[in-house]
Amino acid sequence: MPCVKCRLFNVLAGMSLLLFVATVMLWARSYFVQDLIYWGTGRFDNDRVKQVHVQSSQGQIAVGDYRFELFRLSGSRATASDYANWPDKPSVFNLNWFSTWHKPVVSFRGLVGIGHYRHDSPKTDVAKGLRSELTWRSANFPIWPLVIITGLLPLGWLLKWRHRRRREYRTTHGLCLSCGYDLRATPDRCPECGTVPAKPVEKSS
Ligand SMILES: [Zn+2]
Repeated sequence: MPCVKCRLFNVLAGMSLLLFVATVMLWARSYFVQDLIYWGTGRFDNDRVKQVHVQSSQGQIAVGDYRFELFRLSGSRATASDYANWPDKPSVFNLNWFSTWHKPVVSFRGLVGIGHYRHDSPKTDVAKGLRSELTWRSANFPIWPLVIITGLLPLGWLLKWRHRRRREYRTTHGLCLSCGYDLRATPDRCPECGTVPAKPVEKSS
């Protein structure tokens, strides 16, 4: 009879182990390369752009956003041709949704590795009658607590598995489930710790 609960337990345990291994790999990887994943809304050529990103670098994860918007100095809305005429296109939008640099260039700072970063870069071009606003914001935190958190699940699974194995071993070998004392001579009650077995251990000949 297949044990559905055992199977689910094994699948969840395997997934938690994978998550833990992936977190450790990300942590180690962040010291060699810098990864960036982002989701963008709006298009650079005709509208304000908002982008949300997750970045890993030097043992840190940063979550943040990036905004770019163009304004006409006259107060009216910037058009698609205004965007086309603007030379300072943010280079980040030439990247793919996932990018990797071979050196972790971003160094996040802050107390115990928790911090935030904001960069504003407004530019005005009177001749073109345009002004751009570019803002990069992010909050960062260390990866190592994630390693501990994701490691707790597989650790719990390992301890549970060991506990189960020990119970199985003690049951099949006629030992006390609580302390492991040999109960073959005294199947009704453990002389060592006083535990009464749920069902008496069979006397072996
Ligand atoms: Zn005992």
